[in-house]
Amino acid sequence: MKQNNPRKPSKRLRHKLLAYFLGFSGIVLALLWFMQTVFLDDMYRIIKTVGIERSADFISEHIEDENIVKVLDEMHLQNDMRIEVYDTTSGKTFYLLYSSREQGDLGLNYYPHQLYSYYSQAKKAGGEGLFSEQWDKENIPQLPKTEHENAINLTCVRVFESSGRELMLMLRSAITPIESTVTTLRFILIFISGILLLLSVTMSLVLSWKFSKPLNDTNEKAKRLAKEDYSPSFDSFGYREIEELNSTLNFAAEELGLASNLRKELIANVSHDLRTPLTMIKGYAEVMRDIPGEMNEENLQAIVDESTRLSNLVSDLLDISKLQSGAVPIEKKVFSLTDCTSEILSRFENLSQQQYSLSFESQRDALVFADRARIEQVLYNLISNAVNYSGDKKEVKVRQVVLSDTVRIEVSDSGKGIEPEKLKNIWDRYYRADKNHRRAVVGTGLGLSIVKEILDLHGAHFGVHSKVGEGSTFWFELSLAEN
Ligand code: ADP
Repeated sequence: MKQNNPRKPSKRLRHKLLAYFLGFSGIVLALLWFMQTVFLDDMYRIIKTVGIERSADFISEHIEDENIVKVLDEMHLQNDMRIEVYDTTSGKTFYLLYSSREQGDLGLNYYPHQLYSYYSQAKKAGGEGLFSEQWDKENIPQLPKTEHENAINLTCVRVFESSGRELMLMLRSAITPIESTVTTLRFILIFISGILLLLSVTMSLVLSWKFSKPLNDTNEKAKRLAKEDYSPSFDSFGYREIEELNSTLNFAAEELGLASNLRKELIANVSHDLRTPLTMIKGYAEVMRDIPGEMNEENLQAIVDESTRLSNLVSDLLDISKLQSGAVPIEKKVFSLTDCTSEILSRFENLSQQQYSLSFESQRDALVFADRARIEQVLYNLISNAVNYSGDKKEVKVRQVVLSDTVRIEVSDSGKGIEPEKLKNIWDRYYRADKNHRRAVVGTGLGLSIVKEILDLHGAHFGVHSKVGEGSTFWFELSLAEN
C-alpha cells in the first residue's frame, strides 16, 4: 500500500548514531583543544602558585624541625623550586641560612638590592609577598634557552619570627609550562583525537547493528500482521524496550487473530440467524399464496413473529455498534426497577406457556436512577439467555435484593452452566460457548456484550456465578435513587 506522507524520510539509525557520536567526539575534542590552547597557561600558573604558597606555609611552620634541611632539599628536587632561607634579624644584613643552590640549583642569584626590596615589600604586606617577573634571557645564559624562553618566574616571600629570630623564606619557581610539556600534551591530544574518531565510528556501527537488528526483525514480522497472518511470534531480544514492544505485538497478534476468528464466526452466525426466519417467512408466504385455505390468521402471525425476530437481530447489531462507538447518550431518570423487571418478564409469558417456569421474587419496590430503555435491554437479554440456556428443567428465577444503597438483580437458570475457562469470554462480542446450541429465542452472540456495554456506561457492578450441571446466575447492581 502506498502512503501519502509529506514528511521527508528519516535517516537510518546507523547514520543517526554515527552523527551523534561524531558530534559528541567533536564537542569533547573542541573542549580539550580549547582548554589546551586558551587555559593551559592560566591553569598551570594557578596550580603552581597555590603549590608554592602551600610549600611556603609548610616550611614556615616547620622551620625549627630537626630534619628541616632534608625536607627542604627534597622539596627543591621534587617541585623544581628554588628555596632560600635568610636570617634578617638585623634588618640590614641578611645571612643566608639555607640555599637549594647546594643541590646543584643553577638558578639566578638575587642581587642584594633585590633581596632587600622583596624583604621590605613583604614586611609592609604583613610578612607575605608574591612577585612575578619574566626571565631575563640575557642575564641567565646558564639556563637552557629553549626551556625557559618567555617563562614567568614567581617568587613567594615569607618574613616571620622563629625562636627569637626573624627569618625570610624565599621560594622561586617558573609558573609557565615549559615547551616540552606543551609539545607532549599536544601530541597526546592528537593521539586522543584519532582514537576518539575511530571509537565513534566503531561504536556507532556496533550499536546501530545491536539496536536495529531486533527492530528490523520485529518490523518484518509486523508487516505479516498487516497481511492477516497472525502466526508470527515476536521474539527478538537485546534490550528491554524491544522486548516490551514484542510482547505488546504478540498480544496484539493474538487479539487480532481472535477478532478475525470472531468476525468470521459472526458472519456465519448472523447469516445463519438471518436465513432461518427469512426461510420461514418465505415458506409461510408461499403456502398462503399457493394453497387457498392456508390464508389464515395463524400463518400471518407466524410471519409477524419471524419478522419480529429478524428486526430484533438487526437492532441488536445496530445497538452494539452504536454503544461501542459512543453514539448512544445515556438518558437517566428515576424509575422503579421492580416494575421494569416484572414488565420484561411478562413479555416472556408466551414462552411460559411452553412449560417454562418463570418466577420473580422481590421484597419491595426499588427506585433507581438510570436509562430505563437500556436497563430494559439488559434485563431482556439476561432473561432471554436464561430461557435459552435453562436446559430440560426450563426454570428461570429472577430475584431482586435491596442492599444498603444498591439494588441487585439476579437472573438464575436451571441449565447446564458454563465451564470456568469459558466464563471470561462470554462477555466478548460474537462469543458463543456452545456453537451448536439450539435456542428458543434467536440470538446473535451479542446479547452479553450489549449488557456489558450498557452496565459499563452506568458504572454498575455485574458478574456471573456458574456451576457446570447446576446452572448460572447473572447479576448486576444499580445505585438506589431513594436517597
Ligand atoms: P447468544 O446470542 O449466543 O446467547 P450472548 O452474548 O447472549 O450471545 O451469550 C454469549 C454466550 O454466553 C452464549 O453463546 C452462551 O454460550 C453463554 N451464555 C450466556 N448466557 C448463558 C446462560 N444463562 N447459561 C449458559 N450459558 C450462557
